[in-house]
Amino acid sequence: MVRETRLSPDMLIYPLFVRAGRGIRQAVPSMPGVFQLSLDTVVSEAKEALDLGIPAVILFGLPEKKDERGSEAYAPDGVVQKAVRTIKDRCPDLVVITDVCLCEYTSHGHCGVLQGHEVDNDPTLDILARIAVSHAQAGADIVAPSDMMDGRVRAIRERLDEEGFAHTAVMAYSAKYCSAFYGPFREAAESAPQFGDRRSYQMDPPNAREALREIQLDIEEGADIIMVKPALAYLDIIRRVREEFDWPVAAYNVSGEYAMIKAAAANGWIDERRAMMEVLTAIRRAGADLIITYFAKDAARLLSSS
Ligand SMILES: [Zn+2]
Repeated sequence: MVRETRLSPDMLIYPLFVRAGRGIRQAVPSMPGVFQLSLDTVVSEAKEALDLGIPAVILFGLPEKKDERGSEAYAPDGVVQKAVRTIKDRCPDLVVITDVCLCEYTSHGHCGVLQGHEVDNDPTLDILARIAVSHAQAGADIVAPSDMMDGRVRAIRERLDEEGFAHTAVMAYSAKYCSAFYGPFREAAESAPQFGDRRSYQMDPPNAREALREIQLDIEEGADIIMVKPALAYLDIIRRVREEFDWPVAAYNVSGEYAMIKAAAANGWIDERRAMMEVLTAIRRAGADLIITYFAKDAARLLSSS
């Protein structure tokens, strides 16, 4: 009765990895319980999440082929576009969020088009806007740019409005740090950069005030939801963002944070359920309204049974 922080399934967002094909449910070794799914299996997974009271999924795509400019990312019949259509058709009440980025689609694995070995910001914006529109056309409720290019929220917002998608919301990865905790995701999404790292566009972990500036800019550009990523090593950032801005705050409980608990639990070194709930509660206590987590289904099950 006097508990200050509560968790419920309706604040969770469940990430899904989708690839072409049928009947695929391919385990991601570094993330036990996480699978690369095909169009049919992703729908059953999405439906299961909805039935557990989870209101939203976020989709990441694995294209059939990659190229320099990541052209499959905005193809009308791309894997994410098809998945959105199928999921919205079968589960109209589920909020479908799509990751808008190029790193899963480019042959070099960077989040934008390259000029030499540097990501070229401005031509990338045009492509990101095209991706967002293609997702909205497929039926996505929210697009989530994760690239950290300057000006991408405005570019996406303007293009969505021009194309008649004023009601499609933007969840911006506003404070995305250059983190070691993304490692397992890159295995799941097959998106590790082929050279260098993402330091030139992701944030430097020691900086906190810079996160507030980035968030301010994204809000001015039209973001509807702002995000801090990763969550656990950045709880102070979530707290500061919560205090500073009256905007919905999402936090991404990333792959490495998930993998650590899974690995320790598999060795019998930690109580997985308790650790999971403690972590999700901490993210919530820090001030997040929404938590993107691979634990979503497990947590929802536990919350509805307790
Ligand atoms: Zn990216």
